[in-house]
Amino acid sequence: MPSKTRKSILVVGAGPGGLTAALLLQHRGFQVTLVEKNDRVGGRNAELSLDGGYSFDVGPTFLHQKFCLDEIFAETGTRSEDHLQFVNLNPMTRLSWNGTSLHTFSDRERMAGEIERVFPGSRDGFERYMREQGAKFRAIYPCLQRPYHSLRSYLSPKLLKALPYVLTTRSVHDVLGDYFKDERLKLAFTFQAKYLGMSPWHCPALFSILSFTEYRYGVYHVQGGLNRISQAMADAFVKAGGELRLSSPVRRLQHSGHTVHGALMEDGTIIKADAVVVNADYGHAATRLFGGRSVPDERMRRKKFSCSAFMIYLGLDTVYPDEPHHHILFADDYRRNVDDIQSEQRVSDDMSVYIRNAVVTDPSGAPAGKSGLYILSPTINHRHGYDWDGCKEGYADKILRRIEERTGMKDLRRRIVAKHIITPADWESSSIYMGATFNLAHTLGQMLYLRPHNRCQGFDNCYLVGGGTHPGSGLPTIYESGRISSNLICERFGVPYEAADLASEHLRDL
Ligand SMILES: Cc1cc2nc3c(=O)[nH]c(=O)nc-3n(C[C@H](O)[C@H](O)[C@H](O)COP(=O)(O)OP(=O)(O)OC[C@H]3O[C@@H](n4cnc5c(N)ncnc54)[C@H](O)[C@@H]3O)c2cc1C
Repeated sequence: MPSKTRKSILVVGAGPGGLTAALLLQHRGFQVTLVEKNDRVGGRNAELSLDGGYSFDVGPTFLHQKFCLDEIFAETGTRSEDHLQFVNLNPMTRLSWNGTSLHTFSDRERMAGEIERVFPGSRDGFERYMREQGAKFRAIYPCLQRPYHSLRSYLSPKLLKALPYVLTTRSVHDVLGDYFKDERLKLAFTFQAKYLGMSPWHCPALFSILSFTEYRYGVYHVQGGLNRISQAMADAFVKAGGELRLSSPVRRLQHSGHTVHGALMEDGTIIKADAVVVNADYGHAATRLFGGRSVPDERMRRKKFSCSAFMIYLGLDTVYPDEPHHHILFADDYRRNVDDIQSEQRVSDDMSVYIRNAVVTDPSGAPAGKSGLYILSPTINHRHGYDWDGCKEGYADKILRRIEERTGMKDLRRRIVAKHIITPADWESSSIYMGATFNLAHTLGQMLYLRPHNRCQGFDNCYLVGGGTHPGSGLPTIYESGRISSNLICERFGVPYEAADLASEHLRDL
């Protein structure tokens, strides 16, 4: 049984990071209040509903390293499967270059066979990749589970073991050149840099573990959408006695010296707490929520930020049963597309497009005989502004035409009965700094000790969780940020805890 203390914790934001921290801390004996500005939980992992009975995930559609989520529920004495219905997708994704397609599998033998079928002679490279990247993942993973509050943290034996993988100027794309010759095959193992909103040509080499985890541990769908994960965490939190307040925006944190005392809410009320966990988007929170201690915009803008995402959510009056669950259409000149995004100024006409046709796995997102289509095109963040309001319909139409040309959805535009678009400007107005949907970039200069710390610099009792802090963006790492900050809070107040460990058995056989 967790020890009972009546220390109170305020968590600001019910995204995946805030929900993880709230759930763990409530279970470890704290009295947690979780405030969320929106009228539903989940943040970027919330549900979006459209007229006509269509339901979508706002953001995440790929669940990787499911064991990270399992560990969070395990600590509460339950299994993820007690709350959610998972589907391990095999094939995971169809990758298409104009004229060539490759299906990806987490089943190693099937993947090797598919690679050999599409890119003859490449099987050995894949086998070698899986072996060598497995060793790399085993070295790096433990370093992502601990905080970095001083340069001395680099001296831990675990990090020293991983340093050769971390301290290199090579990019993810460079690493894949060690295994494959065909540019398309390299992309099949590097496009995952886009999960961090980065270019494979700039993303640090250590992140080649992203594609490894995908090919090794698979990609999961959750019936009803990945937003159900956030909902399940919120339900478990409330069931454990936590207080959840929706439609409750924080105006600013209250602090004196190095101590945070709580928060002033937009409605003028004050919530006091012994410690505060901030899940609101890092750039937004650091520049807006800390009153006189906020970071000036000009300083924040010097940091590097991820790209953004142009989103189209479509309610269709039909089902495309032959289209895959996940489909990525690469730009014809992918390098140029990625460079445009990296420039933060040019919107590509030759864009890459990701399509999720969830109905083939999960009919729950639309009325019978109909379906919802989720479309994401990575694009520039909103650093330099862009007239998205003036051009969003035209840009959406270009994307839809590309889908009609390159998939079996030839009559797509005639099947639309409901539509919703989110542009980088919209992301920005929903409190995501610069509309950079995947947060601060994951450059070497913004990682580990150099990323905003889990215990917020300058304060003794304020903690950060979510994609803007260590270990970084993406659901598994965000769950980990919630756990790291929860551990630090327990250590501060002398509350014992026993974090669940399911990862070790997954690492053992690498
Ligand atoms: C389009 C898109 C697709 C993605 N796809 C994937 C994917 O497939 N797989 C994956 O692993 N990751 C994916 N991600 C990345 C990442 O997993 C999600 O963005 C994730 O939801 C981020 O979680 P978070 O906890 O950092 O922040 P958020 O989800 O943004 O949560 C922050 C919360 O804080 C609240 N808040 C902000 N300000 C205040 C305030 N003043 N007072 C109270 N509450 C406040 C917000 O309303 C929000 O609910 C995707 C992201 C996007 C945008």
